[in-house]
Amino acid sequence: MYNNRIYLSLSQQSGFEQDYVQRALDSNWITSGGPNVDDFENKLQDYFDEDSFIAALNSGTSAIHLALILLGVKTNDEVICQSMTFAASANPILYQGAIPVFVDSEPETWNICPESMEIAIKDRIKKGKKPKAIIAVHLYGMPYKVDQIHAIADQYEIPVIEDSAEALGSKYRGRKCGALGTFGILSFNGNKIITTSSGGALVCNSSDLKEKGIFYATQSKDKAPHYQHSEVGYNYRMSNICAGIGLGQIKILESNIEKRRKNHFFYRDVLKKIEGVKLLESTDEIFFSNYWLNTIIVEPTKSRNKESLRLILENANIESRPLWKPMHLQPIFEKYPYYGNKVAEELFNNGLCLPSGSNLKDEDKDRIEKVIKAFFNC
Ligand SMILES: *Cc1c(COP(=O)(O)O)cnc(C)c1O
Repeated sequence: MYNNRIYLSLSQQSGFEQDYVQRALDSNWITSGGPNVDDFENKLQDYFDEDSFIAALNSGTSAIHLALILLGVKTNDEVICQSMTFAASANPILYQGAIPVFVDSEPETWNICPESMEIAIKDRIKKGKKPKAIIAVHLYGMPYKVDQIHAIADQYEIPVIEDSAEALGSKYRGRKCGALGTFGILSFNGNKIITTSSGGALVCNSSDLKEKGIFYATQSKDKAPHYQHSEVGYNYRMSNICAGIGLGQIKILESNIEKRRKNHFFYRDVLKKIEGVKLLESTDEIFFSNYWLNTIIVEPTKSRNKESLRLILENANIESRPLWKPMHLQPIFEKYPYYGNKVAEELFNNGLCLPSGSNLKDEDKDRIEKVIKAFFNC
């Protein structure tokens, strides 16, 4: 059988990472912050529009936490959160002692459902508390319904944290995901579209908010010759070494997006004639996905389902994985309020992520195609 494993999403190097890391070592600047961090922030800022201000941090999770802090989320406040996501979207709500209110997905983008969200907001207000923030996620790179979600958020005057951890390079109506909300967050974890080994960023809409974010991320040091603190601080800043990796990686951001999108068109081609399987895709100009991961729904029959496909792929040494298990079904979160039907649940029951790395080779695709076609008897 095949020896080399085909993974879901591996990082890929540009070859320039080492030079930037060496620069940090040579200058002995090997702590958090520093010239590579400044340069990395500037490069990201160039990528986004000029009214976005970017604070580089040690993870995407820290970025979400800081966004909640900057929005003044405190103990017992309520925060709306897309249920269908990775736990990192929701955990920072608990760090603040706040209460997550989970909302179902809609079937087109698999992201937060505008109708369920409005029902949730109205009901929470009726029960006595207006949610302090909304965390909406561009899952697998697919933009959520930004116009609808933000219109409701504006109507009720609730700020939106745009979890763009998986969506660097995605666009909604031509506007870059990550810069559309009150705050945006990015992740540069090892499996994301570019990596800093571990890292993230907070996208702010003013330089004051960026500076305040960095203030909290570097232990909330007041202006004084000694260490003086009047607020709780965190150790969340990106290290100069990690930013060096990021500077090498950002050179291949555009080509990584292109390669991931090419993978998507490969899957679209393979799957279009197969019955009983549906690829998450967008065919209009509004939703431009980086297709970080390609995801499918396998319609279950008596003889096959997503788990039997996963096992057959596994048998051919091809990694695939069930979709994120919705947060409202997780033991840690199941006691919190949930609004919706069973959209996210059904996606989880029947969905699978397929290998989608930017280093997927033609022979890998051939192997994947053969296994999928054999599975569906075509
Ligand atoms: C990866 C990810 C995060 C967290 O990013 P880290 O950098 O790993 O902390 C948050 N939300 C989503 C949807 C993610 O996929």
